[in-house]
Amino acid sequence: MSHRRILTSLAGLAAAALAVPAFAVTPTAEAPATTSAPTTVAAYTGSPQDEAATKAFYDAVMKSARAKQAKAGNATAAVTVTYAVDAPTFASQISSSTQIWNSSVSNVTLVEGSNYDFYYTEGNDPRGSYASTDGHGSGYIFLDYAQSQQYDPLRITAHETGHVLGLPDHYSGPCSELMSGGGPGPSCTNPNPDANERSRVDQLWANGFTSTGKPAFHTSN
Ligand SMILES: [Zn+2]
Repeated sequence: MSHRRILTSLAGLAAAALAVPAFAVTPTAEAPATTSAPTTVAAYTGSPQDEAATKAFYDAVMKSARAKQAKAGNATAAVTVTYAVDAPTFASQISSSTQIWNSSVSNVTLVEGSNYDFYYTEGNDPRGSYASTDGHGSGYIFLDYAQSQQYDPLRITAHETGHVLGLPDHYSGPCSELMSGGGPGPSCTNPNPDANERSRVDQLWANGFTSTGKPAFHTSN
């Protein structure tokens, strides 16, 4: 996929250009995401594949983050999940989403940087915003222009990031739940996970380091 290669090659450049927003390239210069045909998708406003897609993405990110942590010989600290930003329009929302999540959970930390586990990108897609994995250990969050004009862009960004952290959609939930996504309608602008969502993420990332090595995605509390 050309987009992926472009992004990877840009990672080094962005690291050198500190004060400049990372990946300030025009998305239209690259192939639209629709031609990349992601194998699994978890959309902000729903699709039948949502739960499987969420698990696949979470598994991929977990695997990538764990491999780096093991390499660093640091198996007990909070897991660091590194992301890149190829979505200049949503740079502030991504930054705010990171702050929200990092202040909400303790077993996993989001950090922008090179050697990333997933990345944010943006554009136009009839499916709206979604989290996607290619099934080979990498994933991305796609932020849709049209949808972000109808729905609150920070809520969308934080919601899709919730998928990276392992949370499934729950469209029937209230606005106080982040993972209810577009379910409560465009007037819902809450960007914060509720107490249950926060504890579930901490549980998921703690479980990722049990002796089985298998993330307990469907663990109920
Ligand atoms: Zn979703």
